[in-house]
Amino acid sequence: MSQAKPLIIDVHGHYTTAPAALGAWRDLQIAALKDPSQKPDPKALKISDDELRESIEKNQLRLMKERGSDLTIFSPRASFMAHHIGDFETSSTWAAICNELCYRVSQLFPDNFIGAAMLPQSPGVDPKTCIPELERCVKDYGFVGINLNPDPSGGHWNSPPLTDRHWYPIYEKMVEHDIPAMIHVSTSCNSCFHTTGSHYLNADTTAFMQCLQGDLFKDFPTLKFLIPHGGGAVPYHWGRFRGLAQEMKKPLLDEHLMNNIFFDTCVYHQPGIDLLTQVIPVKNILFASEMIGAVRGIDPQTGYYYDDTKRYVNATENLTDEERYAVFEGNARRVFSRLDTALKAKGL
Ligand SMILES: [Zn+2]
Repeated sequence: MSQAKPLIIDVHGHYTTAPAALGAWRDLQIAALKDPSQKPDPKALKISDDELRESIEKNQLRLMKERGSDLTIFSPRASFMAHHIGDFETSSTWAAICNELCYRVSQLFPDNFIGAAMLPQSPGVDPKTCIPELERCVKDYGFVGINLNPDPSGGHWNSPPLTDRHWYPIYEKMVEHDIPAMIHVSTSCNSCFHTTGSHYLNADTTAFMQCLQGDLFKDFPTLKFLIPHGGGAVPYHWGRFRGLAQEMKKPLLDEHLMNNIFFDTCVYHQPGIDLLTQVIPVKNILFASEMIGAVRGIDPQTGYYYDDTKRYVNATENLTDEERYAVFEGNARRVFSRLDTALKAKGL
């Protein structure tokens, strides 16, 4: 189905502009790890609706209007998840606070934002402990996806690969609720890896390769992973991955992975989007900008913001109008089926 004017759905946005009180509360929580008597009460964090409105209207919503995007799938700030800090209880309290703020934003701006959940992951802790928060976000908050951190250690990679049974309790819930996971790491606490310049892109590439090596989607044929930041190095090295799969006697990637793995368009220059749309099947590409995120400047070569990715998707010669509709709207509705249901309920 093609439409004259697609709904522009940005599947990757974080609440990077939350009022300063949020960070101040987190600082207290971290300080109290050394002195539990100082542990802050979540109720002590007070952020008014007006403060939330202002933090969104001046930032994400202003840019969405300027650039012409309609709806953002909105999750807590990725680098703030910092699952490596403290224990499960630390992450649990923090995730609940961050998810609730995204929910409140989605209630204040129901036409422009819908939530995706941060999980209360903690290194070495069974992922099934994340399920109560996951279910609360889906059932009570109407969230349409989750962010799953494949490396809660923050750059030391000591969790099993994503294909391991370790992660299956999360996958069972994802399948049950038909929600996808964006595979998204958080802050790097390994000085070898810059958080957004290497750790994020490494994780994207690593997640894809883990799935290539395994047979996860035989166990979960309807499981869906969104690999952000344009899929890391994957599209650029597509031939390597195809060749490795062949060496490993795996099926062709179209069959082995591409019914389950999707890439976003958070690639911050035209040649990158041209390559992505040339190499990766269009049905696997979802529009996103990760605005306001890691790269906030203006490209002196073009005069436009690097993260104004809609411009590149519009400009690429690799897409027909129908394919462009799929990237902007159709694929997001297919992958985030609960978003589709929510939109249909509004007559969209
Ligand atoms: Zn992100």
